[in-house]
Amino acid sequence: MSNRNNKEYINAHGELKNPRVLAVDRSMLSEASQRSAFLPETYTTRIEHCIGCGVIELFTAEEQKQWYEKLKNYIFATRSRCKSCQKNWKRLKREISEFPKTLRDDCTLEDLEKMLAALIEYDSLSETVRSDIALFNRIYKKINEIEGRMNVPLNSSPLFKRLGLVHD
Ligand SMILES: [Zn+2]
Repeated sequence: MSNRNNKEYINAHGELKNPRVLAVDRSMLSEASQRSAFLPETYTTRIEHCIGCGVIELFTAEEQKQWYEKLKNYIFATRSRCKSCQKNWKRLKREISEFPKTLRDDCTLEDLEKMLAALIEYDSLSETVRSDIALFNRIYKKINEIEGRMNVPLNSSPLFKRLGLVHD
């Protein structure tokens, strides 16, 4: 981890020393934030773990000010992904939104497996697991049709292994 500010650093016990503190400008918060009871007075640099890759990053007071006052995120929403995972998550979200349209056309086995892999990666970067089970099942059903199988549970399918879902 890089120290972005000499005055903010993490000691050997994983504690943040001398976190930077900035005042909250309530008039700049989103309307939903402003309606909240118990608004914080200040932003304090804090340590966050990325839910995607587990990397530990500082969410600095400056970044929080930007996050809540410029980007208008809800004041109690926290940044849950590092920059690189956030970028991947957005890309996957965009790709996945096209899947229902793509599925109406003829897809190859390879296309379908790539779709499932994208859904699995997207879930690993999301706060909630298996965000679109209906879409997942639609793709999986098509794969079974192509491979000439009927209603094979995913975990006893060779696909389960190909997608890297087996951890033994
Ligand atoms: Zn990450």
